[in-house]
Amino acid sequence: MSKHVLVTGGAGYIGSHACKALAKAGYVPVTYDSFVTGWRDAVKFGPLEEGELSDRARLDEVFAKWQPVAVMHFAALSLVGESMKDPGKYWRANVLSSLSLIEAACAAGCLNFVFSSTCATYGDQDGVVLDESTRQMPINAYGGSKRAIEDMLRDFGASHGLRAVIFRYFNVAGADPEAEVGEFHRPETHLIPLMLDAIDGRRPALTVFGSDYPTPDGTCVRDYVHVSDLVDAHVLGLKWLEEGKGSEVFCLGSGQGFSVREVIAQSRAVTNREVPILEGERRPGDAAKLVSGSTKALATLGWKPARADLTTMIADAWRWHQSGHYDK
Ligand code: UDP
Repeated sequence: MSKHVLVTGGAGYIGSHACKALAKAGYVPVTYDSFVTGWRDAVKFGPLEEGELSDRARLDEVFAKWQPVAVMHFAALSLVGESMKDPGKYWRANVLSSLSLIEAACAAGCLNFVFSSTCATYGDQDGVVLDESTRQMPINAYGGSKRAIEDMLRDFGASHGLRAVIFRYFNVAGADPEAEVGEFHRPETHLIPLMLDAIDGRRPALTVFGSDYPTPDGTCVRDYVHVSDLVDAHVLGLKWLEEGKGSEVFCLGSGQGFSVREVIAQSRAVTNREVPILEGERRPGDAAKLVSGSTKALATLGWKPARADLTTMIADAWRWHQSGHYDK
């Protein structure tokens, strides 16, 4: 019998890659998406159920129809800058909606839950190795909202037996190597797609947000992880839950940090084109450095990132970028 997995945000960047990985692993991914930020043509690997996470009756209907073995919860607003300007939007869209989803999952007896959290829950902790045991001290509403959902999952674990694998992502980058799905946000705010836009003339330039951070070249340092590797970890997390191994937190990063200027240099090398640059102010809410210090997912889940090299991530993103999806 087919095993269905309810994938919230399955029409989004990471969710659509997760659907591909789930289908490849023999599951049927059922996308639940409101299309606030997702794309209809990204739903290619399983059925679609359109709906809002806050719509409890709709969620109940979908759980009853598909009887999923697990939930993978990607649907969220995820922009640091926006979350600083409009925190209420983030607390409503992320926290209240997740509460509705978690309650619906518990009511339906679907007690395996894979959650996409973030290293933004750590805040700005200079000199601290970031791993699963690091104290979470978010400095923006995005990170705050994700930490609240983590807490909620723990509470429902104690009360209802919900088992959650929580993944704290570092910076997700790249695209499906076969370019079936990729990163596509409107408006785009992420470094690599904006840089590729500037390289191929869709934007006049890339603005570097701050050059006076306490980092070697003054620009922010981030740890980039390939979206295809990231979703592979989710399938392993799902199997972990199905084997009854219980709730866990895993950081997903490469352990290697790259500054904004280093990412620019690598993009120049991959595309063999110039990157027009403007120097700008710091973006509120940005931590100076976020790099994973964890090997837990490798050691415990047996995660084997296959495309961990930043050059590969940029090359895959560039292939997707040139595949015509941006002309829609
Ligand atoms: N960044 C930048 N210019 C841009 C977009 C991003 O300099 O137009 C920087 C940003 O300040 C951060 C890094 O690139 O240090 C990664 O930002 P992104 O928005 O891609 O991901 P985040 O770290 O916010 O999850």
